[in-house]
Amino acid sequence: MERIHLSTPHMSGREEAYVKEAFASNWIAPLGPQVDAFEREFASAVGSAHAAALSSGTAALHLALRLVGVGPGDEVLVSSLTFSASATPIVYLGGRPAFIDSERGSWNLDPALVQEALETRARAGRLPKALVVVHLYGQSADMDPLAEVCARYGVALVEDAAEALGATYHGRIPGTMGRVGIYSFNGNKVITTSGGGMLVSDDEALVARARKLSTQARDPAPYYEHSEIGYNYRLSNVLAAIGRGQLEVLEERVLARRANFEFYRQALADIPGLEWMPEASWGRHSRWLTCLTVNPREFGTDRERLRLLLEDQNIEARPVWKPMHLQPVFAGLPCWGGAVAEDLFERGLCLPSGSNLTEGQLSRVADAVRKVWRRARRPAAEPMAAPAA
Ligand SMILES: *Cc1c(COP(=O)(O)O)cnc(C)c1O
Repeated sequence: MERIHLSTPHMSGREEAYVKEAFASNWIAPLGPQVDAFEREFASAVGSAHAAALSSGTAALHLALRLVGVGPGDEVLVSSLTFSASATPIVYLGGRPAFIDSERGSWNLDPALVQEALETRARAGRLPKALVVVHLYGQSADMDPLAEVCARYGVALVEDAAEALGATYHGRIPGTMGRVGIYSFNGNKVITTSGGGMLVSDDEALVARARKLSTQARDPAPYYEHSEIGYNYRLSNVLAAIGRGQLEVLEERVLARRANFEFYRQALADIPGLEWMPEASWGRHSRWLTCLTVNPREFGTDRERLRLLLEDQNIEARPVWKPMHLQPVFAGLPCWGGAVAEDLFERGLCLPSGSNLTEGQLSRVADAVRKVWRRARRPAAEPMAAPAA
């Protein structure tokens, strides 16, 4: 049986025309006219004044945190329920992550816990340098209260919108509401350049500094002169060409992913114990991934058993991110709350969600979930096969 993947690249055909332009002009190099155009087009698509195209979302977050002043010994608050790359750049800079739990309604940062953390730190006279807010699985966090509390305490607000291109928050775009925001074009994201990232900000000087640091921090001089430490983080002109073609179909891709979610929800509506990731009232969830939680008592078996039985059918489903406060590498770091992220990790599952899934593939996934439920309901009459190792 053909494998159904979680999320695969989906080219439109227009990418090749831009890549051909890059070849025809011999700009097979980091930087170049495709990069300039991609930055302009991206900034205009999200409504940010400036954008810098980079080699990855992780590189973009590393630069973003350095540019808001994170350095050795600084504490940075960050969502616990996320991918590791939301937190690891804090450590690259010698900073110390402190984690914050999610709220149930959006699976994103709980503003009340952020407020509590900042109050505690303010009383001790040691405020964190920044807050990294993650827009998880394609849904915006509740930005208004987060922006308000960050402004009150003078803490820089950095947005990790790697998963959220295509989402909205009261008509605004996640990634453009803080001091600086980042996006990812990794192969599994809503649009891809095979690998790449973008940093956006309305602060022209900040983006100019990001460009300089991402090209080895070269000072303006005829020879190579450096007065600070830089990185090689720029995006290739060839990959930017792919990005331009992808950006043109972003809206189609989001609609396809939202349609996947609706397909699953309707096809499985009668099955008890499946709860779909909520769409908060403040905007559009891009449904980058279709996520749900399994209530084992009602569904008849647990998330892990369901995942393994889907794997037996050659269907790739994944547990929701393992929270950062449970990661061995971050053991002992502070965390406000944690029970919500732990529960979502234990019971949460991401179903195949690519914008190029066919209706046949979506049906195969839904049928496989239904079969697991049917068998779990009648363990005596129809024993469940043990999952293959
Ligand atoms: C994918 C991702 C990143 C990292 O982006 P890369 O381009 O893979 O470096 C960061 N944060 C989150 C939440 C992500 O999902």
